[in-house]
Amino acid sequence: MPDSPETVAPERDLFSKFDALIAEREALLATGVRDPFAIVMDKVTSPTQAVIRGKDTILLGTYNYMGMTFDPDVVAAGKKALDEFGSGTTGSRVLNGTYDPHKDCEAALREFYGTEHAMVFSTGYQANLGIISTLAGKGEYIILDADSHASIYDGCSLGNAEIVRFRHNSVEDLDRRLGRLPKEPGKLVVLEGVYSMLGDIAPLPEMVAVAKKHGAMVLVDEAHGMGFFGPNGRGVYEEQGVEKDVDFVVGTFSKSVGTVGGFCVSNHPKFDVMRLVCRPYVFTASLPPSVVATAATSIRKLMHAGDKRAHLWRNSKRLHGGLKDLGFKLGTETPQSAIIAVILEDQQQAVLMWQALLEGGLYVNMARPPATPAGTFLLRCSLCAEHSAEQVETILGMFEAAGKAVGVIA
Ligand code: PMP
Repeated sequence: MPDSPETVAPERDLFSKFDALIAEREALLATGVRDPFAIVMDKVTSPTQAVIRGKDTILLGTYNYMGMTFDPDVVAAGKKALDEFGSGTTGSRVLNGTYDPHKDCEAALREFYGTEHAMVFSTGYQANLGIISTLAGKGEYIILDADSHASIYDGCSLGNAEIVRFRHNSVEDLDRRLGRLPKEPGKLVVLEGVYSMLGDIAPLPEMVAVAKKHGAMVLVDEAHGMGFFGPNGRGVYEEQGVEKDVDFVVGTFSKSVGTVGGFCVSNHPKFDVMRLVCRPYVFTASLPPSVVATAATSIRKLMHAGDKRAHLWRNSKRLHGGLKDLGFKLGTETPQSAIIAVILEDQQQAVLMWQALLEGGLYVNMARPPATPAGTFLLRCSLCAEHSAEQVETILGMFEAAGKAVGVIA
């Protein structure tokens, strides 16, 4: 294998298309800032605490909303399954890769969601990829919010349906675009409970009513709503009372559940045929039994986590109110979820602020286009039910110090 592509003309070097990105990144790092996309956790000591480059750091940039990653029952279930079933399945769910823990995990999901069917995928990304590309086929339509997650867009690209986008959270635009489509073909409207960049939630009752009026089926991605919203923690669609009208819920184990994996639940009587026709389910190895065992235990505990949900809401309200009072520009007027986005002017300011926070002992997510809407650079704060009230006050102090040092606030 050659060390460099000397034998390939520069115009045929397949990496040439990334030159602008490489140059932009090099210019940024040349200013002396740390690379926000190359952080290493030396140690993680709790859902809210880590050691990064030898420094004790509060974590405010994880998806660990319910703080389940160190739950003793969850950890014990994983260890037990590791001992009983080994490290991996080495096979697809439809061949040798379905073990008792996979079936138990699907049973836990059916209990949690109160549905007839549940199907576990290897990640949430693959769940969207598989369900969306398989449900809507040639001649059918997928209608999705313009700010949809990459996995929803990629599900559209993988399939053969016609794709129609509507303006973010606009009920009118959804109605108008559905109204222009031919009546006969099948249609799937894809929504998210919580949109993960700004932390805003969807007006699901209005959206779902419009979808039903036009005869479309509805899929809601509850990746960031599971565990936290609704009396049973099912998600925004439960909190907003539209459970009866949502045909499919997609979710992930990588956030509130605290492990890795994805799923789709439904009451459709023919749902199980998906196991035979959904390529991202069939043509990949199943999750290690230890992983699904931790997920099943976590999911069953999340059903009874009302106190944690209440504490997480208190944290979210306090952080949102505190940051607003300090003068930061936020992604939403009021706290809507466990995600609070701090909007910065440009990449330079965002990276400087991110670095000042890190040096002060706080880790948040740096987000930039194309992941963010409308070309914004933002710092995404995601709260955890295990953040103590004192930690939230400490976090506010860190934001005040960093914001003044960088000149984001006066
Ligand atoms: N849907 C949404 C809305 C997400 O934000 C994410 C992950 N950030 C996923 C799906 C994919 O989840 P996973 O990490 O399990 O692949």
